[in-house]
Amino acid sequence: MRLNGREEVPGVIPLEKELISRIELFIKLRWLAGGGVTAAIWTTGSLLHLPIPVVPLYLIGGLILLYNAFFWIYARKLRAAAPYSHAVLARLANLQIMADWLALIFIVHFSGGIESPVIFYFIFHVIFSTFVLSPRASYLQSTLAALLIIVLSILEYHQVIPHVSISGILAGDLYDNSLYVSSFLFFFVSTLYISTYLTSSIINKLRGREKELITLKDDLEEAYHKLEKSDAAKSQFVFMVTHELRRPLSAIESILGLFIEGYTGGLLEKQKRLLQRIEYRTTWLLTLVRDLRDGLRAEIKKEKPIQLDLVTVIEKIQDSLRREVEDKALDLRLSFSQSPLFVRSDKGKMELLFFNLMNNAVRYTPTRGKISLKVSKEDSLVRIQISDTGIGIPEQDLSMIFEEFYRAKNARSMEREGTGLGLPIVRRIVEIYGGQVAVKSQVGKGTTFSFDLAIGEETSNA
Ligand code: ADP
Repeated sequence: MRLNGREEVPGVIPLEKELISRIELFIKLRWLAGGGVTAAIWTTGSLLHLPIPVVPLYLIGGLILLYNAFFWIYARKLRAAAPYSHAVLARLANLQIMADWLALIFIVHFSGGIESPVIFYFIFHVIFSTFVLSPRASYLQSTLAALLIIVLSILEYHQVIPHVSISGILAGDLYDNSLYVSSFLFFFVSTLYISTYLTSSIINKLRGREKELITLKDDLEEAYHKLEKSDAAKSQFVFMVTHELRRPLSAIESILGLFIEGYTGGLLEKQKRLLQRIEYRTTWLLTLVRDLRDGLRAEIKKEKPIQLDLVTVIEKIQDSLRREVEDKALDLRLSFSQSPLFVRSDKGKMELLFFNLMNNAVRYTPTRGKISLKVSKEDSLVRIQISDTGIGIPEQDLSMIFEEFYRAKNARSMEREGTGLGLPIVRRIVEIYGGQVAVKSQVGKGTTFSFDLAIGEETSNA
């Protein structure tokens, strides 16, 4: 699995996957911080001429930039060597924050100890670190920060290390005021912990929500696959039922034929009429069963695509419709951009597709009408257009004709037989090949169906 071109780490939630990006953002900000420190020293020392220890402060600024360069290279290497382990990322984040605490405590020391305004940067750094660390690591880091500040104050208070006094801007004598130092430490350290608590609990809630969303997404995906499976099983079942129904129905139809033709002895006119009605219903049932089976076959049978000559397929269907075409004296014209016209496709589906369209054109076109079928091939696309001068489709029916069992009123009165399953099959097959059927029609003038199929010689979606 890949995410934004990177490998996904199994079992890591997206918020954690974002860790590397956050670490990189941290690094970017640190370039600014390092530059900012250097600029601030220059402004205070050289521009404002305030008595700050310029050399050690410049040194710290330089060090920040140096260790940041190390982290930058390391993060780049990590990204390149995906998949990275989450533990390595967490270690990198912890290391950076620890380095920052050290740099910050030295800056605080050289800019006036607990009197230094720089000390407030600890708070915003604590908040920031909760974005990249686990709640436990955040509390540990805040403890480290608090310890550093406490140790520095104690060392300065007991003059183990000299207090740097910046006369002119800072009070300068608060560091050895025990009441001030202890109350400052109390409020400052508690602020650090409260900040950690507030931000890490918000982040934690967000992480929890994200986990819930991911579980929900997984559940939904699983449910969808189950539905797909049960749908396929149902289709398979109905397909088998249609298969089983066909044989007895065909037998009934032919036996009825024998009765009607008089092979079993003479029939009364009334008996004959009744039997003809039964035969008509049986034929309709057989058509329905055939259409249902064809539709399901297109859905479930995954035939291997072969090099198929569409000219041969279509001419074969033309042959099978010859009687109907001749009976109605229709002018049926086929035109191909080339012959043979090879495509990598599935024979069963192509036969079904062209049979349904051509059969409809023949059925819904009155005597002496015209039907034209054009097939052209451009690279991996096959363009098809089939037009007739038939009864047309009323505008209000146009959006419905691809629905199962739908038949327009004018079609029903022209052709009693029909199941309304032909066009849904056509639409499904065209969709399998990445196309969409367009239909234009005018009542009494004719209908044109057109679509493209993505079935080049080398590729096939079937
Ligand atoms: P059937 O032809 O069995 O009714 P189809 O699914 O093939 O079912 O077609 C659905 C409906 O679309 C038809 O009943 C008819 O109203 C309309 N139709 C399809 N093809 C044509 C056509 N060439 N000319 C006019 N109407 C058509």
